[in-house]
Amino acid sequence: METGFSLFERAKGLFLQYAAPLRLEERYPGLALLERLTTPDKSIIYRLTLQRDDGTIAVYSAYRVQFNDDLGPYKGGLRFHPKVNLDEITALAFWMYLKTAVVNIPFGGAKGGIAVDYKSLSLAEKERLTKKFAIVLARDVGPNTDMPAPDVNTGEREMAWMVHTWRMISGEYARGTVTGKPIDLGGSQGRREATGTGVVVVLAEAAKEMGIDLEGATAAVQGFGNVGSHAALELVRRGVRVVAVSDLGGGVWNRHGLDIPALLEYARRTGSVVGFPYAETVSHEAVLCAPCDFLIPAALEDAIDADLALKIQARMVVEGANGPTTARAGEILEERGIRLVPDILANAGGVTVSYFEWVQNRQEFYWTKEEVLSRMADKLIQAYRQISERAQDRKITLRQAAYELAIERVVQAALERGVQ
Ligand code: NAD
Repeated sequence: METGFSLFERAKGLFLQYAAPLRLEERYPGLALLERLTTPDKSIIYRLTLQRDDGTIAVYSAYRVQFNDDLGPYKGGLRFHPKVNLDEITALAFWMYLKTAVVNIPFGGAKGGIAVDYKSLSLAEKERLTKKFAIVLARDVGPNTDMPAPDVNTGEREMAWMVHTWRMISGEYARGTVTGKPIDLGGSQGRREATGTGVVVVLAEAAKEMGIDLEGATAAVQGFGNVGSHAALELVRRGVRVVAVSDLGGGVWNRHGLDIPALLEYARRTGSVVGFPYAETVSHEAVLCAPCDFLIPAALEDAIDADLALKIQARMVVEGANGPTTARAGEILEERGIRLVPDILANAGGVTVSYFEWVQNRQEFYWTKEEVLSRMADKLIQAYRQISERAQDRKITLRQAAYELAIERVVQAALERGVQ
């Protein structure tokens, strides 16, 4: 792995590399655009205290990084994970504003989280901690300023706790302050499956271009949470055999294709995919290196490093997670002729439907699931085509093309607003 540099330093390095052909410093001398685009607007660290069920007090660090709002109010998920730190949240917030620009929605980018082993807390502790976080966040978020959403280990339940807390503080039902809510509290149809389904919408466009027929093709999925499980279900719906799946516990493999709805039910019941009948238990690496057409890393950052990139057998890697492929690994994949569909495009379905949820909350008028998913697909397909066209015209990678498009959009907005 490209060690010695933090996640954000590496994310920034990659950004500068992708921004170089745009010659921003030459075209707009003296405006410090590159520095502006790589410096967060605001980084907040909160101290959270939680009274545990046994009466003792635990102290946690929580974060919200509002990176850039040139295109609109900040938007980005909340991650509850022991490895959360300011650097990671900064990198995720940075990618977030590029992602909203790629799919052309009127939002900027932010991210937040708590450094906590959330899964080990009792249900009552989870609720107290989430509501505590909502209280300290209250001054920094709002439907016209910054709207959180789910990320790793957070979902509809946490979003509902948060919107309820803000209602108690302000007396107002500001539903649009958070997206990814339960449907009866103003959530959007289709939000739950949006990211995973969107990954497959983009994958299907890329496969069409490469002449790969989805019917009968094979796939491996790393991570079986919100993104991975819905991507796997959508793949199966489109006739793809999902031969390998992993989660934190390990991997399972079946060359004839796994029964994904049954695997989901099994993982819900037992807490992991491991031990699923009619499948062989395999290592994490075996899933990432499975012989198949499509690999979807949908767990966490840095899952595919340079060593692993040399062993991957898939024909295409579609990034469901944020930042799962290191910069060097990405280059190796491209050198090996393996197409890499970048995260800021591939997993943008979630934020796209979050945008639709926000729109529906403003109007208090709700769309059907079919409408939501079809509008999401339109946006993702349009973004894919713009990026792919640019990549072909200039003989550059999809990742390079996606970054160029996003940077150009944000730069134009920044210039229109006045860069001071
Ligand atoms: P989640 O918590 O629902 O699921 C994460 C999954 O990854 C779990 O199954 C976990 O067991 C698994 N996992 C963790 N470490 C692993 C490892 N080393 N090997 C294999 N599996 C491992 O989270 P999620 O919401 O599905 O998010 C996954 C990724 O997608 C994250 O990078 C997140 O930032 C990104 N993402 C999520 C959304 C969204 O709408 N939820 C949107 C865009 C991007």
